[in-house]
Amino acid sequence: MSDIVYQAGNSLYLNITNRCTNQCPFCVRYKSRKFNRKHLLWLEKEPAAEELLAAGGDISKYKQIVFCGYGEPTIRLDIIKAVAAELKSKIKNKKSKTMVRLDTNGHGNLFWGRNILPELKGLIDSVSVSLNAADAATYDKLCHSAYGPAAYPAVIDFIKEAKKHIPEVEASIVDLPAVDKKKARALAAGLGVKFRIRPYYEESYVR
Ligand code: SF4
Repeated sequence: MSDIVYQAGNSLYLNITNRCTNQCPFCVRYKSRKFNRKHLLWLEKEPAAEELLAAGGDISKYKQIVFCGYGEPTIRLDIIKAVAAELKSKIKNKKSKTMVRLDTNGHGNLFWGRNILPELKGLIDSVSVSLNAADAATYDKLCHSAYGPAAYPAVIDFIKEAKKHIPEVEASIVDLPAVDKKKARALAAGLGVKFRIRPYYEESYVR
């Protein structure tokens, strides 16, 4: 059975979909159905809100609860909103400092054809957006987006919009030779958000 939630460090990850609007060749989903030898993340069925909440157990012991997937979580926006609302209520009742985070490729507004960030206000404390490149041409080469050249500017706009509604915003790239890290870091600084280089995990994939 696939893992709809899994723990990594002090965080609990909610694995909500396999669907994605990118096809990044470096993505773990094209390497293995298991993540880090332990977690079977390829979903046979997308979990319902109740299943995620039940599987999460006592969430107040975690530093963060993270919406993620073997795909793009904002494709399941209604589930994010329903689960996050319940999580925030539990966190408040327990007077816990647990944060709710969203890891996203930043295509949510393109996918839904509207600005979804105001809908996440008060539900999501922190968002990490996969910027993935310092320019549109590199992004296109790396990510093979369903949206073609429209994808990269939309990711930048998503980051700008996120700043208006989410307390903590981070732009990240994967540590790949094709990515100009200095330029990406400067771009994130110009956007006024945190910057993170994500390690390329291939060595730890199970094939
Ligand atoms: S956007 Fe993320 S989940 Fe989608 S293919 Fe790229 S790395 Fe994988």
